[in-house]
Amino acid sequence: MSQQVILNANKATSNGVKKLFLYNTLTRKKEEFKPIKKGKVGLYTCGLTVYNFAHIGNLRTYLFEDILKRVLLYNGYKVKHVMNITDVGHLTGDRDMGEDKLEKGAAREGKTAWEIAEFYTKEFKKDLERLNIIEPDIWCKATDHIKEQIELIKKLEKRGYTYKISDGIYFDTSKVKDYNKLSHQPLEKLRAGARVEVNEEKKNPTDFALWKFSPAGEKRQMEWPSPWGVGFPGWHIECSAMSMKYLGEQFDIHCGGVDHINIHHTNEIAQAESATGKKPWVKYWLHGEFLNISGGEKMAKSQGNFLTLENALIKKGINPLVYRFAVLQTHYRKPMEYSEGAIKNAEKGLKHLYNQARELTDTDFYQIGGQVGGTTLHSISPPNKKFKDEFLQAVNDDLNTPQALAVVQKVFKSSLADEEKLGTIIDFDKVFGLNIEKELYNFVKPENIEALINEREKARKERNFKESDRLRKEIEKKGYRVEDTEVGMRFFKK
Ligand code: AMP
Ligand code: ZN
Repeated sequence: MSQQVILNANKATSNGVKKLFLYNTLTRKKEEFKPIKKGKVGLYTCGLTVYNFAHIGNLRTYLFEDILKRVLLYNGYKVKHVMNITDVGHLTGDRDMGEDKLEKGAAREGKTAWEIAEFYTKEFKKDLERLNIIEPDIWCKATDHIKEQIELIKKLEKRGYTYKISDGIYFDTSKVKDYNKLSHQPLEKLRAGARVEVNEEKKNPTDFALWKFSPAGEKRQMEWPSPWGVGFPGWHIECSAMSMKYLGEQFDIHCGGVDHINIHHTNEIAQAESATGKKPWVKYWLHGEFLNISGGEKMAKSQGNFLTLENALIKKGINPLVYRFAVLQTHYRKPMEYSEGAIKNAEKGLKHLYNQARELTDTDFYQIGGQVGGTTLHSISPPNKKFKDEFLQAVNDDLNTPQALAVVQKVFKSSLADEEKLGTIIDFDKVFGLNIEKELYNFVKPENIEALINEREKARKERNFKESDRLRKEIEKKGYRVEDTEVGMRFFKK
């Protein structure tokens, strides 16, 4: 989707009256969203640990975050979105025990940790693109920000929050009065959870590593010098350091999956607020529920029960946007169960939606060239005000996408003119991201004239009008009428 289209949406809603409400994990309440700086939003989303492919559970979380971002844009906010890539420091146990996931991945595949990180980062970005997820404005890798992480640990050390044990520098969680404010769990319960992975030297079970030393006599693939010794950063420090670097010491929204609440995000808050003394560090915390498999079990890379976009959809010839559609059908704070049947149903549902939209167009045509950009097409009118309000009401109620999809069906059934229906639905698709408009032009692909189309496009680019006219006649002989529009060539079946 072009920026232009999004800006148009902003104009249309900037004087709208619908307030945006989001469920804040910090307060356990739906709250009216009020940004720190008027009209602007700083958004940080925890990225992938790149030691394997993203599974469709991870991708559910990235889809929820994309919907959030699109809803913010739709409401007229300017969004600065930062996403990290965890390429060092995340150990097999979330509490700093076990092996580094990257080094483990490297051993599994006979590659270096650096090669593993590069490969899976590329694959991750490919998946996001296939799901029509808008790229963050800033990508940041943990290994590119070692200096910032060391600086932050130094600040914490100066303020008396750290201590040293044999395998690293740790954060003393007993020094933070409101350590459990995000999890809302009694401290005793958090401590009990932390005892699963024991490190006898730690002062408190919930304490976590800020910097881990490379094991004596061993050279790790990823290690750096530091004031405390050669080693690598703990997992949580990267997100505190990088988010503050790019979004400032206080910012609006931070997201992830629900598994991050009790450990990762709790520790990120402890680090950031202890280092700056500013509270709250982040105003709104949003968490997406899990994608489960086989009756309520979390899909997880470590469990080996995971499916990738490639395996679950693409290899079977299913449009990846079918998964996006499936995710939209479930509210982000409800668990979602994966099954082949659910994907099949979503496939039917999305095809139906595309067909409903196509039925609103007057002729069968295929379009080539140009950015298909709504605003320049004559047959699509601006969105209907009443339905737009209803749609906003739904998405602004803590991203209620199932209800927003129900509004789409209301539009189809309404007495609006076809053009207005189409314009309204294409406007809603700025939030859904299902490429409805693009789909309208793709459906009668005239294979028998493909070569002629390509030649004519070339001729037009070279401004060879004589040749272009000759090719038009050739195409007409094959049963198509050609129309040259502002957005490219369009072909109608005669
Ligand atoms: P990780 O690569 O483990 O850091 O996870 C990347 C993102 O995916 C995080 O926001 C996790 O909370 C999220 N996540 C992990 N497993 C699932 C799952 N089964 N369903 C939804 N989100 C998940
Ligand atoms: Zn994070």
